[in-house]
Amino acid sequence: MADLVQGLPYFYGNITREEAEDYLRQAGMSNGLYLLRQSRNYLGGFALSVAHSHQCYHYTIEREMNDTYAIAGGKSHRSPVDVVEYHAQESDGLVCLLKKPCNRPRGVEPKVGAFEDLKEKLIRQYVQQTWKLKGHSLEQAIISQRPQLEKLIATTAHEKMPWFHGIISREDSEPRLLNNRPTNGKFLIRQRDNNGSYALCLLHNGHVMHYRIDRDKAGKLSIPDGKKFDTLWQLVEHYSYKPDGLLRVLTDPCPRPEGPPALPGNHPDLGGTSGILSRFRSASFPKPGLKKLTTYLRKSHETDNHYAPRATVPTTEDLPMSTEVYESPYADPDELRSTTVDRKNLILEDGELGSGNFGTVLRGTYQMRKTQKQVAVKILKNDDNNAAVRDEMLREAEVMQQLDNPYIVRMIGICDAENLMLVMELAELGPLNKYLQKNRLAIKNVTELVHQVSMGMKYLEEHNFVHRDLAARNVLLVTQHYAKISDFGLSKALTSEHDYYESKGHGKWPVKWYAPECMNFFKFSCKSDVWSFGVLMWEAYSYGQKPYKGMKGNEVIQMIESGERMAAPANCPSEMYNLMLKCWTYKPDERPGFFVVEPRLRDYYYDISQ
Ligand code: AMP
Repeated sequence: MADLVQGLPYFYGNITREEAEDYLRQAGMSNGLYLLRQSRNYLGGFALSVAHSHQCYHYTIEREMNDTYAIAGGKSHRSPVDVVEYHAQESDGLVCLLKKPCNRPRGVEPKVGAFEDLKEKLIRQYVQQTWKLKGHSLEQAIISQRPQLEKLIATTAHEKMPWFHGIISREDSEPRLLNNRPTNGKFLIRQRDNNGSYALCLLHNGHVMHYRIDRDKAGKLSIPDGKKFDTLWQLVEHYSYKPDGLLRVLTDPCPRPEGPPALPGNHPDLGGTSGILSRFRSASFPKPGLKKLTTYLRKSHETDNHYAPRATVPTTEDLPMSTEVYESPYADPDELRSTTVDRKNLILEDGELGSGNFGTVLRGTYQMRKTQKQVAVKILKNDDNNAAVRDEMLREAEVMQQLDNPYIVRMIGICDAENLMLVMELAELGPLNKYLQKNRLAIKNVTELVHQVSMGMKYLEEHNFVHRDLAARNVLLVTQHYAKISDFGLSKALTSEHDYYESKGHGKWPVKWYAPECMNFFKFSCKSDVWSFGVLMWEAYSYGQKPYKGMKGNEVIQMIESGERMAAPANCPSEMYNLMLKCWTYKPDERPGFFVVEPRLRDYYYDISQ
């Protein structure tokens, strides 16, 4: 596939969205002018950039499981070229038909990507090793945290590479290259000192050449008079591609002998109360994650230059995988999977986390077989201890019990003691709307959280559940970078006969979050959750404001029926407002599902995170 596309005159390789826009501008921006480029987000994917009405539009062409290609939610095709040809005939969701290819200017070759395959492998390896994740939780971690993970591996990837031998002397390096298959182009990198200086050792006609790699004050690495790189692996990639001043290209990585590479001693900065580590120490991380992260930080910090700009080390963001609620407590096979919680293992603490229809929610501690867990406990009011409310709470528990996703609050169990209690994972920063009212997070951060909600909703959609009460108040934050969907009090599992749930009558409904078909026909589906998700997005980008402020429920219904929709929140990115409008498509059949909404959010999140 790569060869087929490489040969296309309108394929630009691994260029950025901005570079694509520049090329389209240079070529005149006529309506339907387009170019194809390599996706910088999806392994093996592409992006289509199209000019229309003096604006540029970008569409990701994903490579699907069975090696077909499609624009998210669109028709599958055998190749990206087929996607282009199809959209020259049918706009099918695109802003316009593809009219004219924007061919590469003379002398411009498709840009080569930076070790895309390798990067992918490294990310995977990093997540597996650091958080011991596998399967679904591994995939979800990579999707939701890709920008952060890319930054993390960029600065530490070399430590995991076979060609990186840590601190060894020049003399020690030579036999490693000369013994065992001494082919021309065999190479290794050794660390020379603690100041971020390395050496590239390369075998050429039976001799080992040693090239110094120095780090400049900006933290860039280069061999003398050579091209500058942010990372060692980019440097290796470059010289594996062309000699560019070396005696030959790097071809054969010399594997280091068994065991991890030697790492330098403690960095003096690490003991202090200021700086990166202390910021993490004061952060509200549950302990296991903190330990792993500090281990990582210590390593990356130690191999870093004193003068290197700290901004290049991605230490300012906490990752969901570092919390104790990323994976189910029952993911550990040594923990007994049981839906009932023994009262003697549960300690309730003073101080309410919140209150809802059933009663109060208290913080607690649950003693499991191997670990103690911080939990939230929803306690049924005693005076309400009648059969109907009790049944309602048990139904909520039954739904929650069937769900297991990092972006959904998991139930740990039900405890039937002095009160009926629903024991859940703790999301201690509380509801998203309230948090955003108090904390003006960056758009990137808001998008990260909203994207996580879409991932949780995509999971529900795949498992045929409707939430029916999706709103910013029902998204709880574990950290500033980790959101979970909660409150399954109204949720339903769909049956195999219908892809919707039909309510018998009107209840105490969150009308402002409900799609027209819910109000008119009492019909609830994943598509009506998508409508609610649009309102949730509006709440998020307006920093927790109330939707349709000052309006009554029936006024909102009239407004929607007349075709009017809420205006964009102040400073809301147009891409995100357009997505809200899509979520508020009147007819459920024409409204996108979460399988379309999630990749749209993902694309935008990756784009603004680069
Ligand atoms: P609910 O009855 O589900 O609407 O919950 C009422 C309030 O309790 C929420 O708005 C939160 O402030 C708090 N709460 C509920 N569940 C949790 C949880 N798992 N972790 C932390 N706080 C929670």
